[in-house]
Amino acid sequence: MTNDVPLIPLNSGTGIPQLGFGVFKVDPEETQRVVEDALEVGYRHIDTATGYDNEEQVGAALAASGIPREELFITTKLRNDHHKDGDATGAFTRSLDMLGLDYLDLYLIHWPMPANDLYVATWREFEAFHADGRAKAIGVSNFLVPYLERLLAETTVVPAVNQVELHPIFQQREQREFQAKYDIKTEAWGPLGQGKYDLFGLGPIQDAAAAHGVTPAQVVIRWHLQTGNIVIPKSNSRERMAQNFDVFGFELSADEFAAINDLDENRRVGGNPADIN
Ligand code: NAD
Repeated sequence: MTNDVPLIPLNSGTGIPQLGFGVFKVDPEETQRVVEDALEVGYRHIDTATGYDNEEQVGAALAASGIPREELFITTKLRNDHHKDGDATGAFTRSLDMLGLDYLDLYLIHWPMPANDLYVATWREFEAFHADGRAKAIGVSNFLVPYLERLLAETTVVPAVNQVELHPIFQQREQREFQAKYDIKTEAWGPLGQGKYDLFGLGPIQDAAAAHGVTPAQVVIRWHLQTGNIVIPKSNSRERMAQNFDVFGFELSADEFAAINDLDENRRVGGNPADIN
């Protein structure tokens, strides 16, 4: 890595850059430009999903960048439809093709869809992708504790990561504590609250931004990093990408950090994984 982003060790033996770049809702028409900008800014960890319909354009940006494969960390996720069809193996191979890669750094089950009761069988397919080296690490997303408990009880490989909604009004303390116990790393999606509430107007965030001469978004990303979360903010704007990446030159004080911790309302802005089937 040629930047300041710490590598978080995963149970697979590989490391994930703690700060990455997400491409949810990036229009396919714009994705290649957006990802090329992100790579130029310095991001080396890109988070996509088959469900975002932009894997091919992410792949085009990776190829155009000329960055050696081993310097990149690429995550994609199994689309819910393919999970329901029991077609994880086909879907995984197609994702590699779309991305133009021969291995993924991390492959995630996007949603558990518990009413379908397929995630244990799907995870066994994931274990095979990991065993044959085509997925350096495998993990899950949106798994509530009972679903993780089932995987731990009924399968062999412990998920390296659980990618969950997480931001200052939904801090997921119990989920994080459970995951830490089993060395399942916590990755925050919607780390800036997806713009669905006035996160940047909250007092402790504004105060810390003023104290350090940074933006509220930088304060929130810094809070994630100091919490220990893997964090993957998204922006189509190169200026904001650069701002979100420029978070290693200051540190929140213990008081500033505690004041942001106190903002937790245990309130989601996205869907409850129990209800998405
Ligand atoms: P986010 O919290 O990163 O918010 C993105 C919004 O914040 C954008 O609309 C952008 O305009 C704004 N923003 C970004 N930087 C800013 C800045 N510096 N100043 C002001 N505004 C700024 O939301 P997200 O994109 O939903 O989440 C990040 C990534 O997480 C996604 O791109 C995707 O990769 C992943 N994700 C995963 C799941 C899942 O189910 N696993 C769900 C949602 C998102």
